[in-house]
Amino acid sequence: MASLAELDISKPFVATVISNDRITPEASDEDIRNIVIELDTEDFSYHVGDSIGLLVPGPHEFGNEYHLRLYTIAGGEKVSGNRTRLTLCVKRCFYIDDYSGEKYEGKASNYFCDRAPGDKLTMAGPYKGAFTIPDDENTNLLMVGLGTGIAPFRAFVRHIYDVRGGWKGKVRLFFGAKTGLEMLYMNDKRDDFANYYDENTFKAFEAVSPRPAVDAPVALDQAIEQNSQEVWDMVRDPDTYVFVAGHEKVGELLDQAMAKIAGSEEKWQRRKAELKAGERWMELMY
Ligand SMILES: Cc1cc2nc3c(=O)[nH]c(=O)nc-3n(C[C@H](O)[C@H](O)[C@H](O)COP(=O)(O)OP(=O)(O)OC[C@H]3O[C@@H](n4cnc5c(N)ncnc54)[C@H](O)[C@@H]3O)c2cc1C
Repeated sequence: MASLAELDISKPFVATVISNDRITPEASDEDIRNIVIELDTEDFSYHVGDSIGLLVPGPHEFGNEYHLRLYTIAGGEKVSGNRTRLTLCVKRCFYIDDYSGEKYEGKASNYFCDRAPGDKLTMAGPYKGAFTIPDDENTNLLMVGLGTGIAPFRAFVRHIYDVRGGWKGKVRLFFGAKTGLEMLYMNDKRDDFANYYDENTFKAFEAVSPRPAVDAPVALDQAIEQNSQEVWDMVRDPDTYVFVAGHEKVGELLDQAMAKIAGSEEKWQRRKAELKAGERWMELMY
């Protein structure tokens, strides 16, 4: 993927915030939001897995006019006047400065999470995503995500079952969050995947942290290990595509689980290299 500095922002457009709802519970430390925006342009087309750029107006450090950050399109629909409404899943980010120990707000994510319905945004894109859904509906899709990494998979699952009308290969989603309530789009209040549980090729596996209060890592590796036979059969099948999305920890957890399943780190890395060489491994980590 191109670096942010290489992305074309020469044709920005305006979008209006339609809704902005927190989808993590108030008690949670994580503020993750489902934000729906309507683009003030009719000239917008994108592919599942693409992202859109938010340009936060300045002034910014080093004289930059805009601060650009990308957000994966989690859903989209055409509304009146051929306008597009997009659903995005945005996490409010903070970081701690290594030297001062001070906590800073991530610029774009805080700006985005603070917008109210009716507010105008400057956007750019869409930008090609790291993921492409194969044309052949007999292929298997293994999707592994953490946190906001659910966004591309929400768009994927809708696309293959609702737009393409079904999928014959296996579709397996492993998704992790700190607690059950932070299972984005998959909790008691809101389960956007519920429509697909009856599809006989679709299965979703959820993983949470065993000890969220002490920040123990999400048990995503355990969820994968509990389904080791199926997962291993899938990654050995030349018709399987693997998609990994979200916080960079997702890659570590997946590697740990797969090394155990494969019998050694080396065996897993060999298999992963084969998947990559065959362009059947796609990852989007940030
Ligand atoms: C293709 C793609 C798709 C994405 N999709 C999504 C999505 O769907 N949802 C989502 O929530 N996010 C997504 N992201 C991440 C998103 O683009 C932003 O990176 C994120 O929101 C943080 O941006 P920010 O402007 O809030 O933070 P920034 O102000 O840019 O800070 C972000 C990070 O920079 C580092 N940092 C910056 N300055 C310092 C410093 N002085 N000291 C230490 N560390 C520092 C920290 O690690 C911090 O967490 C995606 C990223 C990519 C590349």
